[in-house]
Formats: sequence, structure tokens, C-alpha cells
Amino acid sequence: MIERIRTYRLQHKLEESFGFSQWHYDTRNALLVELVDSSGASGWGECYGPAEVTQSAISSFYAPLLKGWDPLKNEAAWQHCWRASLDFARKGVMMGAVSGLDMAMLDLKGKLLGVSVSELMGGRQRDRVFCYATGMYFRKVSEEALLEMILEEASGYVDRGFGALKIKVGKNLKFDELQVRSMRNRFSDTQLMADSNHAYDLPEAVRMGRVLDECGYAWFEEPLSPQHASLFRQLSEKVDVPIATGECEQTRWGFQDLLSLGGVNIAQPDLAYCGGPTEALKIRAIASSHGVNTVPHAWGTMLNLASATHFLASAYVEPGRAEPAEPLLEVDNTPNPMRDEMYEVALEISNGVAVVPDAPGLGVKPDLKAMEAFCVYKTEL
Ligand code: MG
Repeated sequence: MIERIRTYRLQHKLEESFGFSQWHYDTRNALLVELVDSSGASGWGECYGPAEVTQSAISSFYAPLLKGWDPLKNEAAWQHCWRASLDFARKGVMMGAVSGLDMAMLDLKGKLLGVSVSELMGGRQRDRVFCYATGMYFRKVSEEALLEMILEEASGYVDRGFGALKIKVGKNLKFDELQVRSMRNRFSDTQLMADSNHAYDLPEAVRMGRVLDECGYAWFEEPLSPQHASLFRQLSEKVDVPIATGECEQTRWGFQDLLSLGGVNIAQPDLAYCGGPTEALKIRAIASSHGVNTVPHAWGTMLNLASATHFLASAYVEPGRAEPAEPLLEVDNTPNPMRDEMYEVALEISNGVAVVPDAPGLGVKPDLKAMEAFCVYKTEL
């Protein structure tokens, strides 16, 4: 029985900001949630979205609904939360709060049953997951200096064994094209992806998509606004590069609407935002019915990264064949001490490969003492 529900709002001010097509980050924020069972076991989750708001949604609205709940009944808990907020929160920040609770309940359920989250997700197809490095964000320097910094940073990831890298585009078309070509020239054998974070209109996306085609990029992420989902099909008819999107989308119904419009080749729900890891399994089933693979967006700290690892460990790649393409885990390398220095047990990643944890639950553990240094506000019910 869930006896205590705690939330921890964490913050870290960065020494140097970094940016992408929409804005610059100068502070890292995180909202962690802990569900404490009557046996003393704790399940941990995290929410993507504005931490003050997800914290308030949990502490004031969802926590009273889940106090006293049996953590083995995680699907029923999701439905309970869904129905209680259906009239005003079918999508949005409150779904981010539900996602963190769902992640924490799955972690707790795994611990109570003595199995890992990938086993709860149907069992493993693989014990290792190939990773790609996310990084190479923009800095407030000249474009010439920025390009050099990006190539240098990328080279560091390749030296560490990453076989796939994702760059940011959407600064301006001239720089974007130069960057895309320079990366390909420098890293001829590396799998490359480009992410515009919905910075382009359709003609711009077509133009960039053609450059990505020419340079053999593996996917074009969020080329267009999630508000104009019907444009993805038009883009896909003009370019060959696979189109990836979905980090702003939520729930099985949201993905059904998005994918039924066509043009999207890779679905990217964030497990800390889309409705949680169990909702992501439903999104995966929907995507599979459209012949689309689901490759999570992963941002934040180790809990979300571990969730995505278990999700990919249990993924069946469409279409099945003797030598299928391997799904790729997003490993964010932007500065974040709450991801890199705050876990007693962290995910093991070396040579660009993540080891799927065997321990019960998510298999990662926040260090409560280390967490205190980042904690700005705590709640408990
Ligand atoms: Mg993205």
C-alpha cells in the first residue's frame, strides 16, 4: 500500500548557458517523485515539464487520489488519475505529472515483485541498447567559433565510442546547412541525425530535408510544428530522410491522431511526459499498427533515461527480420549535474552502449544526500 508520496523540486544554475532553435537554458530543473510503500520500499519517477506546476499537480491533486493505493495495480491507478482529470487535463502539464507517478509506480512494482521494468514491459529482446549522443547545442559565440565547437564536441563523443550523434539545427538556414554538411564531411562513418525543435515552415523543412538526404542523415527530428501535423505528409512526399517527431505529443489517442495523418516514420514519446512508461507501451502498440517504430525522447535525469532503456530493451523493431535495425537510446550529454552526479546507482553506458539494469525496478537509485544540494522545495503527503 502506498503510504507516502513525496515530491522533490531540484534546480541547478549553469555556469554557461546553451541553446537550441527556441531559446537558451541557463538553469536545469527537475521534478522527482517518490512513492513509499508500507513495506518501506520506494519507487521513483520524474516529470518532464515546468517543475513548479508538475509538483503542485502531484501534491495537491494526484497524491490524495493515490494515497493508500496498491502499487501492483498500476494500470488501474492510471485510469483512476485519467478519469479524475479527464474534463480538464487530457493533455498538457498535468499529464506530465501523471507520467512521473506512473514511472514511480512501475519502479515500485518491479521492486515488490523482484523483476526489472523491462520484464514488466513484456520481457527483453536485448540486454544492451545502442546509444546516440545528443549535444552540440548552440553557444553565444560567433558562428565560425560555434561550428568549430560543435565539431570538437562531436569528435569527443566519437572518441568515447558513440556510433550515432544528433545535432541541433533551426538556428538559421545558412548556418544549418553548413553545419549539416561539415558534420558529414568530418564523420563519414557515423550515423547522424538532425533536430530542428519545430523551427521550420514547410518550404524551409523541404530545403533542409534535401540537404539531409544528400548527406545521408538517419532522421530529421521535429522538422515542423506539432500544431501543423498535417504538413508531415507533405514533407515526406518531397524528401527521403525519415521523419521523427512526438516529444510534444501525449497519450495513445494523441499519437493515433498524429500517426493517422501520415508522414511520420519514427514516434518519439517522452516517458516522463507522454503519460508515463505504461502509456508509452500503448503508444508503441498504436505506432506498430501504423508500421512506425517508437524511439523515446529522453531528457532530464537518470530515471527517465533508465525508463527509456527498459522500454527499448523490450522493443520489437518493425519490420521483423533476421538482422533488424537496432533501436537507439537518446543519451543527453548537455551539462546536468542532477543526471551525472546525483545517483548512487546510475545507468552503465560505455562505448556508446547502455547495459539494461538487472536490478528490480528501474535499476537506478537517487542519492538522497547528493539530492539535498539541488532541492529547492519538497512536499509530502
Ligand atoms: Mg528533440
